[in-house]
Amino acid sequence: MGAILQENGFSPAEQIDEADIIIINTCSVREKPQNKVTSLLGRLKNMKILKPQLKVGVAGCVAQQMENDLLKGNVRADFVIGTDNIDSLGDIIDPVMRGERICQTSISKDGLSIPVFKRVGSPSSFTTIMKGCDNFCSYCIVPYVRGREKSRSSDEILDEIKFLVDSGVKEITLLGQNVNSYGKNLEEIIDFPQLLYRINDVEGLGRLRFITSHPKDFSYSLMEAMRDLDKVCEYLHLPLQSGSDRILKAMNRKYSYGEYREKVQMAKEMIPELALSSDFIVGFPDESDEDYEDTLNALKEIEYETIFAFNYSVRPGTSAEKFEDSVSKEIKSKRLSRLLDIQRGIMAKLSDAYVGKTVEVMVEGSGKRDEKQFSGRNRQNKVVNFDSDKQYKPGDFVKVKVKEAKPNSLYGVSED
Ligand code: SF4
Repeated sequence: MGAILQENGFSPAEQIDEADIIIINTCSVREKPQNKVTSLLGRLKNMKILKPQLKVGVAGCVAQQMENDLLKGNVRADFVIGTDNIDSLGDIIDPVMRGERICQTSISKDGLSIPVFKRVGSPSSFTTIMKGCDNFCSYCIVPYVRGREKSRSSDEILDEIKFLVDSGVKEITLLGQNVNSYGKNLEEIIDFPQLLYRINDVEGLGRLRFITSHPKDFSYSLMEAMRDLDKVCEYLHLPLQSGSDRILKAMNRKYSYGEYREKVQMAKEMIPELALSSDFIVGFPDESDEDYEDTLNALKEIEYETIFAFNYSVRPGTSAEKFEDSVSKEIKSKRLSRLLDIQRGIMAKLSDAYVGKTVEVMVEGSGKRDEKQFSGRNRQNKVVNFDSDKQYKPGDFVKVKVKEAKPNSLYGVSED
């Protein structure tokens, strides 16, 4: 959206109160971020009183869900752009600046095509390979606000990645609600592992990551690609959500914990140094103490480097809306904090295991006060701060000997 605005003659504002256009890009996967949109619109209303020419837009999933309602009422936006309508920003911006109020939220039935666009200079960048979801997990709003799965052609993806690499990008993260479904609705015959093989051949690219994989579609051929391709990092985000088969069934996740564990064990054997991360929902309707204990046991058994865990919140329009939200707020909070406590211990243990090892770090920046301090991430996506007498710039790859494990990062010294 920033690139489209720049093509239309706008430039980035240094401060929010200097802006002529503000776009709130939104997420509706949980209740809290959705509520934040309304409160931010309320704050921007006061800004609009002082600066009547200011235009405020809402984009993303909340825009797709609330549509015209965001143009109405007391706290209202000037324009609304749905999840399939980012391209239309260039067409609507002139009429919006002239005072029209516009809502664009149609979902296209065509394939997915995204023009290559300039990004803010950074050695890491994202490339969308597919969007939408056909899985309909019972708690999730994504299939309703993002539509069905659509993939981008492999040529278009390759063109974008080559363009990014030519502009200095060294690390690409491929994005999609379920990257393992890549290629399903394309005319060309290609699946996700095959796409990884093609991208791995791009000269100048240093690292390749992807997010998110659905456990039911995490295949042996993807494990082989992760094992065999030098640029694909040893990092896998594989959301488990719950360790209880009863809850997984109610969530419509289409795998059991046993099936999940078997795949993870195979992946760990095939891909040395593999780091795992996961999402968890705590307090799903009817989650009993036993179900919750199953989740804790799974957490301890799999040993994730990172987790993203949240209390369940009802998403209007999902099939879980009809379930009684039976777990009280207090119990949800207690369960969440115990789960996070256990995870802190696991994380500390896994971080300690890096001490004494040499890891590859891609430099992201240097210390503001000390020019001999640098920071970056290892292949497992862990933040590594290190000292060196040499000078490095963002995007350089450095071998770092880890000396110390801190709660959220590692510390070391360069070996080069
Ligand atoms: S697979 Fe992910 S995006 Fe799709 S419905 Fe399930 S949770 Fe939502």
